[in-house]
Amino acid sequence: MFRAYKFRAYPTEEQKLTIAKSFGCCRWYWNYALNLCQETYQTTGKGLSYFTIKGLLPNLKEENLWLKDAYSQCLQVVAKNLSTAYKNFFEGRARLPRFKSKKERQAITYPQNVKLEGDYVKLPGKVGKLYCRQHREVVGKIKSATVSLNPDGKYYLSILVDDGCEQPNPSAEGKVIGLDLGLTHFVVTSDGSKFDNPRHLAKHSRNLKRKQQNLSRKQKGSKNREKARKRVARVHSRIARCREDFLHKLSRKIVNENQVIAVENLNVKGMVKNPNLAKAISDCGWGMFCTRLKYKAEGEGKIYIEVNRFFPSSKTCHVCLNQVGNLPLEVRSWSCEHCGTVHDRDLNAAINIKNEALRILELGTRSTAFGRERKSSGRTLVLLDAVPVEQGSRSSIA
Ligand SMILES: [Zn+2]
Repeated sequence: MFRAYKFRAYPTEEQKLTIAKSFGCCRWYWNYALNLCQETYQTTGKGLSYFTIKGLLPNLKEENLWLKDAYSQCLQVVAKNLSTAYKNFFEGRARLPRFKSKKERQAITYPQNVKLEGDYVKLPGKVGKLYCRQHREVVGKIKSATVSLNPDGKYYLSILVDDGCEQPNPSAEGKVIGLDLGLTHFVVTSDGSKFDNPRHLAKHSRNLKRKQQNLSRKQKGSKNREKARKRVARVHSRIARCREDFLHKLSRKIVNENQVIAVENLNVKGMVKNPNLAKAISDCGWGMFCTRLKYKAEGEGKIYIEVNRFFPSSKTCHVCLNQVGNLPLEVRSWSCEHCGTVHDRDLNAAINIKNEALRILELGTRSTAFGRERKSSGRTLVLLDAVPVEQGSRSSIA
């Protein structure tokens, strides 16, 4: 299994200069090759292969001598990444690759010859030994290392490692839990726990607004503007780190306490189109949360299940399976007309998601009966419904 470690790195002033040059070369090469791919795509409808993109390098280096400042294998990784980006686009997994900007996060990847020496990492090429604070031990064989620079001016080193262990076989023996994700509560579980939505963006919004206003008043190209830009970037990174921390801890807790974890697969992209909710939804990080649940579960032989989002989880009574026709989003609790049970909207949805997961497991399916496995998603299960479609709404947006 592959694992990734991310450490904060502290390059010297000299190393910063070398790294900045490499960032520049890789970014330039990406943009140059992307432009060429776009032109080819317009005329032929196809992208360029890895070998064609890589094959451009010798000539480019002749024409632009400064391109030799970058470690050559880092440039080859750029070629690889670009061809993968196009492949992902053609196979429907991603959007078209975009041009890289100086203002965004910068990164270079070393595909081999990386060694750890104490608190230093030894990179091939001109950078040499880079100090990084290793807060945990790296176990396994190093596959690659990426040096990155955030817009707030902090450097990081990510190391990809093969730990030599096989992924454990999944087992459904144990506790099953259904999760309903929402805005009022971030998660409501089928056993009744509710976790508040931390609303990181809203918490920092006054601070962010003030610093953004401050930035907008600075003269373009001035040193003060650069300083103000960094201050804004620092708030953004802080929000991102708070969010990551929350998502890691909550997903860890849920995976530790359960064997099978079921969530609804959400149409986040569709929901973000609603301008009233876009900010709040993007702030939640539901997608990141599900990714974390998935890899944490799979790494321990547990099962992560996605239930189809058209499954009417909030409108079905979990006691008698009676469905109500209409359940506006502001209705937080309702009583079933058939059996008279009073439901908490989110809890009822979570229980239905859990029951649906149990049904999928009972059918013993990875991909049979009603189900169809989603493309390239490993152990993710998506049940295509045998039940009527719930139009439009998501269970717990309020
Ligand atoms: Zn009922």
